[in-house]
Amino acid sequence: MLNLHRPDADIFVPDALDAEAALARTTHLCIAAHQDDIEIMAYHGIAECFGVKDKWFTGVVVTNGAGSPRSGIYGNYTDAEMQKVRILEQRKAAYVGEYACQLQLGFTSAQVKDRAETAVVETLEAVLRATRPEVVYLHNLADKHDTHLGVSLNAIKALRAVRSETQPNKVYGCEVWRDLDWLMDADKQALAVSARSNIAAALVGVFDSQVTGGKRYDLATAGRRLAHATYFASHGTDEESALNFAMDLTPLVDDPALSVSDYVLGFIDHFRADVAKKLL
Ligand SMILES: [Zn+2]
Repeated sequence: MLNLHRPDADIFVPDALDAEAALARTTHLCIAAHQDDIEIMAYHGIAECFGVKDKWFTGVVVTNGAGSPRSGIYGNYTDAEMQKVRILEQRKAAYVGEYACQLQLGFTSAQVKDRAETAVVETLEAVLRATRPEVVYLHNLADKHDTHLGVSLNAIKALRAVRSETQPNKVYGCEVWRDLDWLMDADKQALAVSARSNIAAALVGVFDSQVTGGKRYDLATAGRRLAHATYFASHGTDEESALNFAMDLTPLVDDPALSVSDYVLGFIDHFRADVAKKLL
């Protein structure tokens, strides 16, 4: 049986199938740091699977959501109470999005950022063995949030460790705390997210504790997708009304010897060369 390491890890299966079977049907997997990150960064995968019989999306939230800002009706909540609210909000999203399964692993941010900590990698290895996904969504490796970066680096370690047993066809590095408009178009993975804008809006909207207090993630997420679709190509009409951009992280899993920093800095080199070429 799947060992999620922490006793407070939360497993939620919206259609109440046995957890092991629910995970085994997964085709699309998102591994994210916090509650609500999945719905901001990986709607592409959620929409690909929504209502489709042989495609299933599973979400993994690695941290416990402690220490998040709180205001309004949540103003007096303790950390423990806030964590309960955030777990429930994530379950609501999983229900609305018809996920195969939602895992909330409950690690601290400190554990995720500690490069010597092995429990996070080992747990993600177990999740990958249980799900055997075809497509994986991670935070992009130029994200400015250290916990996002920590989760992705742990996930890449785990993907590399299990690659003889299971290996996805595609690994995307997605947008939350830093978008990817700066990538050269040839380096961009443009993910169409126009489908079911009603579901897309509901998925971010259920995270009331995050939106209350003025952080309009619901509007900002939709706005980013619209802006990307509009500004992606200067000619012609927009085929998509919403796009997310992603960094292709598949080569890092295909070739475990490839340096993560060399690979990511390569994208910046391409951008730099393009700007330089036009100014010289
Ligand atoms: Zn986050």
